[in-house]
This record gives sequence, C-alpha cells and structure tokens, in this order.
Amino acid sequence: MSEHKDFLRTIVEEDLKSGKYKEIHTRFPPEPNGFPHIGHAKSIAINFGIARDYHGRCNLRMDDTNPTTEDTRYVEALKDAVQWLGFEWDNSVRYTSDYFPKLYDYAIELIKMGKAYVDSLTEEEIREYRGTVTEPGRRSKYAERSVEENLDLFERMKKGEFKDSEHVLRAKIDMSAANMKMRDPLLYRIRHAHHYRAGDAWHVYPMYDFAHCLSDYIEGITHSICTLEFENNRDIYDWVLDELNLTPPRPYQHEFARLSINYTVMSKRLLLELVNKGRVSGWDDPRLPTIAGYRRRGYTPESILNFCDSIGIAKANSTVDVSQLEFCIRDDLNTKVPRVMCVLDPLKVTIENYDGNEELDGPYYPDDVPKEGSRKIPFSREIYIERDDFTENPPKGYYRLTPEQPVRLRHAYIITCKEVIRDADGKITEIKAEYHPDSKSGSDTSGIKVKSAIQWVDAESAKRVEVRLYDRLFRDEAPEGLEDINPDSLKVIKNALIEPAVITDKPDERFQFERQGYFYADPVDYTDEAPVFNKIVGLKDSWSKKTKAPEKAPRGERKPQVKKVQVEGEVAPMSETEQARFDRYTVELKLNSEVANTLARDEKLSGFYEEALAVLESPVTLANIVANEVARELKEKQPDALKFSAEKIAELVKMIDDETISTKIAKQVFEEMAQTGENPVQIVEAKGLVQISDPALILPIIEEVIASNPDNVAKFKAGNTKLLGFFVGQVLKTTGGKANPQVVNELVAEKLK
Ligand code: ATP
Ligand code: MG
Repeated sequence: MSEHKDFLRTIVEEDLKSGKYKEIHTRFPPEPNGFPHIGHAKSIAINFGIARDYHGRCNLRMDDTNPTTEDTRYVEALKDAVQWLGFEWDNSVRYTSDYFPKLYDYAIELIKMGKAYVDSLTEEEIREYRGTVTEPGRRSKYAERSVEENLDLFERMKKGEFKDSEHVLRAKIDMSAANMKMRDPLLYRIRHAHHYRAGDAWHVYPMYDFAHCLSDYIEGITHSICTLEFENNRDIYDWVLDELNLTPPRPYQHEFARLSINYTVMSKRLLLELVNKGRVSGWDDPRLPTIAGYRRRGYTPESILNFCDSIGIAKANSTVDVSQLEFCIRDDLNTKVPRVMCVLDPLKVTIENYDGNEELDGPYYPDDVPKEGSRKIPFSREIYIERDDFTENPPKGYYRLTPEQPVRLRHAYIITCKEVIRDADGKITEIKAEYHPDSKSGSDTSGIKVKSAIQWVDAESAKRVEVRLYDRLFRDEAPEGLEDINPDSLKVIKNALIEPAVITDKPDERFQFERQGYFYADPVDYTDEAPVFNKIVGLKDSWSKKTKAPEKAPRGERKPQVKKVQVEGEVAPMSETEQARFDRYTVELKLNSEVANTLARDEKLSGFYEEALAVLESPVTLANIVANEVARELKEKQPDALKFSAEKIAELVKMIDDETISTKIAKQVFEEMAQTGENPVQIVEAKGLVQISDPALILPIIEEVIASNPDNVAKFKAGNTKLLGFFVGQVLKTTGGKANPQVVNELVAEKLK
C-alpha cells in the first residue's frame, strides 16, 4: 500500500473501526459490452486492492441489464483481465441477470408501498414533464393509479403484453427535486429482446439505478465504488435501499475520478469503432489501451498495477501523461529481462583481417540486475551492424563508427573502418574493416580509446526475424475520433537479424534489444521458424518535449539510464517542511492527496499557490490550476519569468468559481495569459468566452446536433444510452467548450428521453 492512504481507504478504515462493517466486501461491476481497458484496470486495482489490503472480498459482477449489447465473449475477456492482473474474485462470477427475479420482487414491494407506479406517458411527454434545471417538473396523471392497477400492469409488462415504451415503471420520489435524477426515475422499461444469458424469459429489464444498488445489497457489498459521473445517481441509490426497509447492513456508494490518459481513447464506443472498422487488428491489437492489447504488446501485470498505484485515487478528473505508463513498464523490465543483440536495419561489415570463427561469452544481464545467465555469441569475418551506427559525416557528439573513429562491438572486439563500398546509386552497401585482436571485451590490452559499443550480429548464424515497431495510436494529445489516428503507429520490419541464442536458448519471452528498447515474442504469431517480436517500449521517452535525449552510450559499454519520475508516495520521502505542507493541504485545505503531493514537494509551486491563496480563498480550484497549468510553466521558467502573477491566477479562478467560465475554457484562457501576459478578465471579454448556462441558448444547439445524427439517436433510443456522452460532447464542441457541461448533460438527457 502507498505511504499516503487514499480517501477510499480512509473511509474503509473508518468504517471498520466504527464497526459499521465487520468485513469489507467490494465488487468490480463491468458491463460485458466490450473488452476491458486500462481504465477498468484502475477500477480492478482499486476494488480488488482494497479487498486484499483489508482482508475482505471482492466480487466480479457482470452488470448485464442491457440485452442488446452484451455478449459472452466480453464476459470471457473480463474474467481474463482480472486473472491476468493477479486477482481472484470471491466465489463464482456474479451476474445481475441472475437477480432479475429478486429485483422484480423488490419492484413489486415498492409498488405495494405506493412508492412506484406504472407510467404510460410517451417518451416525449416524460421528458417534457420532467422540467428543466431551472423549472420543476410535473407528475404524470398515471401516478395516481391504484396499487392493484400498478401490480396488474407491471405483471403484464413482464409477460410481454405491451409494446416497447408503452409503459415504464417509475419510482415516486419528487418531481421538483433539485437533483433532476430524483424526478421519478425510471426503474424498469419494456424490451422485447433476447438476452445472452436470460434468454427470452423477460420482457422488462431493470434500469441501472434500480439494479445496481440492489445487486450490491444482494451480494452483501459494503463499499460500492464507482466513477464520478455517478455522483448524482447516489441519491437514487440511497433512496431505493432506504425505502425498501432492508435488513442492515446496506452498502454505500463512493465515487472516484476515472482514469484518462493523453494520446489514448478509452470510450468503449470508440474502441469498438476502431475494431469494427478494421483500423486495428482486433481487440488485442498491441496499440490499443485494452488489457488484451497491453498483454499482447508485452506489458507485464506488475507494470500495469504499479501504474495504477502511481496515479493515485482522486476526487477530481484529470489526465495522466502516457509517458508515466511507459515509465512503469520500462522500470519493471529493466530489472528482469535479458539483454540481447538485434540489428533492425542491417549493414554488412567484412572484417578483413579475421579468419575462422569463435564464440564469445556474453552475460544476459548487466551488473545491477540480480540475475545470472549468459550465452555464446558466434563471431566471424562477416557481421552486420545497424546502418545508422556508421556515418561518413558525423555530427558533433557522434560516438559510433566513422572512417576516423573506431568503435567497440558489444561483447567483442574494437573495429576500425578501412573502406566504404557503395552501389551505383551511391548507397553504402558494405564496410570493410579491421579488428584489433588484443581488444577483446574483458581482456582488452589494446589501449585504443572508443566512445561507444554497438550491437551487431554474426552474418552466418544470425536469425531473420520480423519486428513490429509500435508507436502511439493517436497523434493528438486529446484524441476525439478516428480522424486523430497517427498514420505511423505501426512499422513492420521483415528482415531484422537477431543473435541465434534468442531463438535457440529462449532465455525469456521479453528482451531488451540493446540500445533499441524492450521487445516481446508475439504470443500469437511467433514461431521458431518465423519469429515475430513486438516492441513494447523504447529505452527512453522519445515523445517527451523537455528532456533532450542524450547521445547513446557515451562511454564504453554503459547501461541505459532509467529516469525516475515523481510518483505519489513512491519516490523519496518528504522532508519535514514538505510533510507539514502536505498535511496542511490535505487536512486543512481538503486537497486530494495527488494535488497536495505535487504542490507540497515543490518549493516554487507551493510558494505560488500560497500567494494566490492569500488573494482568493478557493483552495481546491486554485490548487488544481496551480498543480497542473502553472506547474507546466514553472517547469520551464523561473517564477520571475512568468507572464502572469499569482494574483492574476486568482482572478482566473474566481471566474470559474462564480461560473462565468468553465474549467475547460479556463485552461484556454490560461494558455493565453501564459503567452501574452494579458489580464484573464479581459481575455474572457475580448474573446467572448463567458460560459453559457441559459437553456434557451443551449437548446437550439442540442436540437441541431440531434437532427444531424439520426443514426445515433436511433441507437440511443434502442437502448445504447452510452451515446449520451457523444451528444453532450458534440454540443460542447459546437459551443467551443463554452456551454456549461452540467446544464448540457441534463438538457441532452431530457431531449433524448
Ligand atoms: P462505457 O464506456 O460504455 O460508458 P464504462 O467504461 O463505464 O462504460 P463499465 O463496464 O460500466 O464501463 O465499467 C466497469 C467499471 O469500471 C465501472 O465501475 C467503472 O466505473 C469502471 N471504469 C470504467 N472506465 C473507467 C476509467 N476510465 N477509469 C476508472 N474506472 C473506470
Ligand atoms: Mg459504465
């Protein structure tokens, strides 16, 4: 467990201490409508991790209440993912669909108590009656039906006597509730559809809000952990469980921020689109953020879990840099895998003064890896080196082979270039070289100074292999769709050459190809006759803007340096001052531990934060801007080189607080401030960025979006409620991010009902 407890573990500990629960019981409740992705891994790590840490139990439950999108194939993929990550679910896999009879009985109970009724308004009317964020709703006249009539109708709904959407079952709560979700939410709807497990037994299906809380209760769950977008649903969760007079204890819902990663899409809709349109090779394409994809690429379960641990658990949504995930796999493999030599773009070198052949000794692991093992590396007159390890026009700092500069062949001899052979087009086809017999690695008495060692393979014994080089699937930092795909995300090299021991010895499945990166024998396509390797990750972060890559191996046979990133509660312990700051930020100012950690550990950043705080008492919003936006600027500049002051940041945050602008727009304004040094209020005014919250202004846009996406409307109406996000996104996009997301959400939901 990390040093700093996250807020969920704090809650769990308090609940155990107070005796609220004797044992912790969590669950991971995916809907089997797609392959799980790294976001699910976070949820798996949290739910199973908490159960493990507090000696409790965790269920795996298929939340399968939607008959039209679910499939056993996805159930298998979910089971696989949990097991691969190293967790075991309690008992057998659970299915919400197994509870359909029980849920139905609970619904009957609510009807008998006068707390639920069959409504027969049209979908259009239901939406209209619900009111808006600014106006209360009206209750349907059908809410006055007698208990007997409701029971009769509900039973006939179940038997399939009515058409889809002719009736629904609704909770009788409060049509003027401020939380619009509480305005008589739907509990059941009619669906004449075949369910992949329940078959054709049912003609009514429970809604998420009814099924989830009761499934939790039925399973004896104590902490129902879900993502932030369910915050408003918590009131229904509590209402259902409280009204039903259940035998205690009952579960409670707690929300955390969902994971998002830059250059990555995690919406199942988009993943499904990538797969269905053949833009990737399948759900396990190594470029996908699915567990199956990472697994096929060569990520280890440990690296994924370390990543989930390192990002912490927060109460505010934010985006994690993909390089943090890449760091985690590099960090894991660095201490585990053999180092071998593979040449991706071979250039022939003939060593003219060498005859015969020999076998050299090469340890698989560097000194700082606590593993033993070595292999024989054949050496003879003809070898191959990497084409770009030779140049006739070396730029400054080029340490490899040139006509003037000798180089060491890793684990072997030093060679000197004697002659460069070209074809008719002037392309270099061969190097003629000489080796220095007394320079053998380990017993070098030559006295020749070289600046680096390069990988090579022996021409006669090397094996031909296919190498698949993967890069990020999206070129856009915040990809929105297929249009943002990186066209160069896959490069296949058919004729790479590898030293024979990799194929004949098979010391491992994952390797470091020296100076190239980490690679994995593809678990599907690899055979000894036609070996295929996937690139897992490079040796260093090639996308990072700030760290300029140092020249490779500047002296002798140096090991690649692994960069340590700052990871919550993982790296150096805090100094006393830092710890004091951290405590004040988390306890007094109620910052989440992730943000508090960032601020507390950075002198400049916390100074800036405190200064802004003195002007505006809005600790949380300020902290978020400072820990993300300002931090980025401060990484590159000294505080006095910044174009904005703490005071101006306070002004910016004030506009967020009084809802003049959205958080999204605030980021845009910040960019402008950082570049021009202009006043935030002026930027907002000049650019017309004021947030739009007025439904009258937003509704026409919603109507337009709905009108121009008839296909998605149809899918949504057919039960694919996940498309809500698509519509909201389109509306926000149309308004350039100016519409108030909360208001858009409610209005879109209403319009589509
Ligand atoms: P969709 O993308 O279709 O809305 P989903 O991603 O929410 O679906 P579910 O199968 O409902 O998928 O998710 C199962 C569990 O995983 C839920 O408890 C959900 O909160 C969690 N989860 C899903 N995505 C993420 C994410 N990006 N970060 C953290 N947890 C997630
Ligand atoms: Mg979901």
